[in-house]
Amino acid sequence: MAQVKIPVGILGATGMVGQQYISLLNDHPWFEVRYAAASPRSAGKKYEDAVAGRWHLAKTYAPHVGGIMVEDANDVSRAVAAFKKGECSFVFSALEMGKDETRALEEQYAAAGIPVISNASAHRWTPDVPVLIAEINPDHTDIIPMQKKARGWDRGFIAVKPNCSIQSYMKPLHALAQAGFPAQRLIVTTMQAVSGAGYPGVPSLDMIDNIVPYIGGEEEKSEKEPLKIFGSIDNGVFKDAQSPKISAHCNRVPVTDGHSACVSLEFAGKKPSLEEIKKIWAAYKGLPQEADLPMAPKQPIIYREEDNRPQPRKDRDTDKAMAVVIGRLRPCNVFDIRFTALSHNTVRGAAGGGILNAELLKYKGYIN
Ligand code: NAP
Repeated sequence: MAQVKIPVGILGATGMVGQQYISLLNDHPWFEVRYAAASPRSAGKKYEDAVAGRWHLAKTYAPHVGGIMVEDANDVSRAVAAFKKGECSFVFSALEMGKDETRALEEQYAAAGIPVISNASAHRWTPDVPVLIAEINPDHTDIIPMQKKARGWDRGFIAVKPNCSIQSYMKPLHALAQAGFPAQRLIVTTMQAVSGAGYPGVPSLDMIDNIVPYIGGEEEKSEKEPLKIFGSIDNGVFKDAQSPKISAHCNRVPVTDGHSACVSLEFAGKKPSLEEIKKIWAAYKGLPQEADLPMAPKQPIIYREEDNRPQPRKDRDTDKAMAVVIGRLRPCNVFDIRFTALSHNTVRGAAGGGILNAELLKYKGYIN
């Protein structure tokens, strides 16, 4: 007998990340898109009309999604009505609005009994909201009962994923730390794709034949978010880890998809050999792999030996675009080692990462 799928909603369904959600959920074994919401500009249109002329992906949406009537994401009562009709058990939030507005709106959904799995940065610094990378900190979901109790929410809660720029180097760092080689200091230079700015994003005249050495707020996020992810739960709130100390340079480059990061790393104590590091990365697995979650890459970190890899165009789609691809591991003249890492920003860094978090939350019994 076919399994009944959990009906899900997408807030910001018409945007760059929302479209990735719709596309990745086309034939997902557990979840089915039944509810879509966006700005008042799109509300009241069929999904196919709302995205006509601005569908960005090669893969299209499922036929039933084209016929969904887009709602105004600011009107939570529409999602509550859909929940009551069995059409929206929880929502993925891919809204691009002001931080305060997003924070307040996501809280309204949670308070109304609709769990929110968010891509937005608004709640990343809320002390009782977990920032999840499913392989690294699946135990951070343990805060959800405390969050619900403290806020008086019965069914709803908020869980978020971190910034797309840190995805490529967090798992390599975690793998090394788990093997007894934590990092103490890092210097990271990112080269971030234009799709990271949404649509229409950065003006083409700024991007063609050019690099923009500034992405608002990105360096601060890249330096702080890893400490929450590596942190722990203390009395119902998150306590940040003390290390590694990170200095980030974030650049926008003329690449469509795929954020690259050049990393120089100093270890806190013992220093593994380059061969040991490659073995640690190759053997790295987390709960998503052990539980065989549908969106999980088989091998979260792939090392390429060629001198000229990873490259966004050739490597970003590795294993459903969910794997991190690394290359150029070599000694560093200032710190201990250096390497280049790549991950797909709108998949692993956004919708794919959000879906993996939802699978983790279902696996742990927080959504059903
Ligand atoms: P986007 O392409 O600009 O899409 C924004 C979405 O938000 C659209 O669906 C838009 O609806 C909706 N929206 C805008 N203003 C609204 C309002 N006032 N009320 C309700 N809905 C509104 O942005 P994106 O790149 O998909 O990013 C979405 C979120 O994901 C952002 O928070 C971003 O920071 C985060 N994120 C993005 C990436 C990435 O690589 N792009 C990676 C990680 C996280 P309309 O179409 O009707 O205007």
